[in-house]
Amino acid sequence: LASRDFHPDNTVIDIKGVRIGGDELVIMGGPCAVESPEQIDEIARLVKAAGGQVLRGGAFKPRTGPYSFQGVGVEGLEIMAEAGKKHGLLTITEVMTPEYVDICAEHADILQVGTRNMQNFDLLRKLGTIQTPVLLKRGFSSTYDEFLNAAEYILAGGNPNVMLCERGIRTFETYTRNTLDLTAIPVLHQLSHLPVISDPSHGTGRRELVETMCKASVAAGADGLIVEMHTDPDNSMTGDGVQSLFPDQFAKLLQDLEKLAPLC
Ligand code: PEP
Ligand code: MN
Repeated sequence: LASRDFHPDNTVIDIKGVRIGGDELVIMGGPCAVESPEQIDEIARLVKAAGGQVLRGGAFKPRTGPYSFQGVGVEGLEIMAEAGKKHGLLTITEVMTPEYVDICAEHADILQVGTRNMQNFDLLRKLGTIQTPVLLKRGFSSTYDEFLNAAEYILAGGNPNVMLCERGIRTFETYTRNTLDLTAIPVLHQLSHLPVISDPSHGTGRRELVETMCKASVAAGADGLIVEMHTDPDNSMTGDGVQSLFPDQFAKLLQDLEKLAPLC
């Protein structure tokens, strides 16, 4: 079902009039994690003012260590939904377990499957039973074939609304947090009809590289970008402040991107 052989035309996912996978670029921006209502309200305002369409923010955070901040949980879903409504933005948030799929889907417009859960097959199966669009991140050590098979689990269950997200893979290089595999973008477009989103924030792990890799992703054919932005990155509650853009950098990035492709 994910293959272009059986579905030659691009899939366009229309979420309340925002068409993902068409001729326009979708921009998802926001912090790594939901920290407080005030933080999300202010960042939502900035994402909207800059011309973004989707507010990102994790209520449930998959952390490498068990003692790190794990996210604010269900309360974060409510904070995201409220800010999305108030500022006229769609919302995306990560879901980590099958049990939380329904409540996350009640609150968010797009559900994100994180890199660590790409092969959480029970989660993928559950996401196949609903119609809420899913942004599936590539596992950091997964091949294209494994990635597309993970998407296939969701599609096979009956949910056709899947976006593929390249977010960097693990290589021998340690200067960057991950290696953003730009080649994935044209390859996934060749193999599949699903929209392809790029995540240069996690793909590089370094703020100063995000702008360039966003532009490179668009040049490579990405249908959209998911970008971390924070009003006070140095004090962010996850380690992802170092890869988060300042609001003025985010606004300038969108201005530049608009010269490359029309935004949604
Ligand atoms: C995130 O988007 O904040 C995140 C945890 O992403 P990934 O699963 O790609 O590490
Ligand atoms: Mn993050």
